[in-house]
Amino acid sequence: MAVDRGNRLGHGGGRAVVIDAATATEARMHNRAALERDRVERSSETRALPSLLQIDVTGRCNMRCPFCYLAADAKPALRHMSPRLIPLLHPALAAAETVTLYGTGEPLASPHFDDFFLAAAATGARTYFTTNGTLLSPRVCDLLVNRLTYLSVSFSAGDAETFARVHGHDYFDRIVRNVEHLIREKEASGTSHPRLRLSFVAARNTLGNLPGVIRLAERLRCSEGVAVSYLVAYDEKELANIAPNAPEEFREAHAAAGALADSLGVPLAFKAAAPGVEAVPTCQRPWEAAFVRYDGDVFICTESAQHPLGSITTTDFQDIWNGEAAVGFRTAFLSEPYLCCRYCNQCQNKTSVERYAHLGGELWVREVTRLESGCASGGGA
Ligand code: SF4
Ligand code: SF4
Repeated sequence: MAVDRGNRLGHGGGRAVVIDAATATEARMHNRAALERDRVERSSETRALPSLLQIDVTGRCNMRCPFCYLAADAKPALRHMSPRLIPLLHPALAAAETVTLYGTGEPLASPHFDDFFLAAAATGARTYFTTNGTLLSPRVCDLLVNRLTYLSVSFSAGDAETFARVHGHDYFDRIVRNVEHLIREKEASGTSHPRLRLSFVAARNTLGNLPGVIRLAERLRCSEGVAVSYLVAYDEKELANIAPNAPEEFREAHAAAGALADSLGVPLAFKAAAPGVEAVPTCQRPWEAAFVRYDGDVFICTESAQHPLGSITTTDFQDIWNGEAAVGFRTAFLSEPYLCCRYCNQCQNKTSVERYAHLGGELWVREVTRLESGCASGGGA
């Protein structure tokens, strides 16, 4: 089965990430060495900066997919990150080997996207973001071709009719046209960048669409295939659709999807552990990754929204990364993890999917507890 248990495009889960020649600078090599020491020693204080920097260029989106936290939240924060924050991000940008430009909204909805993208690309880091594809205009394609490393386009259905039902918008043909234009531009420029993948949110009511998305990835010549993540329930009506409530259905769907992907030569990656898929035991994000929200607040990840580490609007990034809150997060992570880590659905730590599979009747209560705790901060496209 063509399953990549790591996330090929983003963070390396439980594996040590080896810095590659394309992103190597002296500063990054030094940073990587310090990071590896602190990561291996599980030191709560660290001399290194994160190797993965996730910049949330906007909290806004032009869509409202019914399964997204933006649709569930009656008053979602609707802000773009100000380009005035770019200079404040420079120390972190210089050390990061990978910079991702998404978090809680649709990156291309930001009027400042170009500024953030060009600032990230100028550092020589790998760059990546996920988009819903609707705003991938010829102008944006021109900006991205041969500059952006990876691009992920969100499709939870492989045909127009199902897409409209699942995403609540009749945008399938427009998005496919946009991606096809990008492919033509890449070919005209003789480049493989940005390398493409499709991202699929697996829920009980979307599992039947996965084969269609795998076929679409083949049609759109997505070298990175399809990445499957799992629905996080942002309101109670979605609880029936999450994987823990139908483990057998998910197991069968995974097996069928794996066989189809193999037969078509399409890489298929499960973003988090799922029933029948072995989990990577330990999350590395407290050492390797930082998430900067649109308002400048810094977190370890999108799931740890209840534990801000500080704001780059008032404090230098380096001081935040080794400040009281960040050290406290790592200390807790190593001893008595916060609720977000215990019920995490975003990394390849022991996930709720695997955890809940053994809990039977308790799982409903636990998912509601996680919802009420505010652990889930948002998803992005
Ligand atoms: S919430 Fe999840 S991704 Fe974030 S640090 Fe905890 S285990 Fe890792
Ligand atoms: S899932 Fe993505 S495209 Fe859909 S509303 Fe949320 S951020 Fe927008």
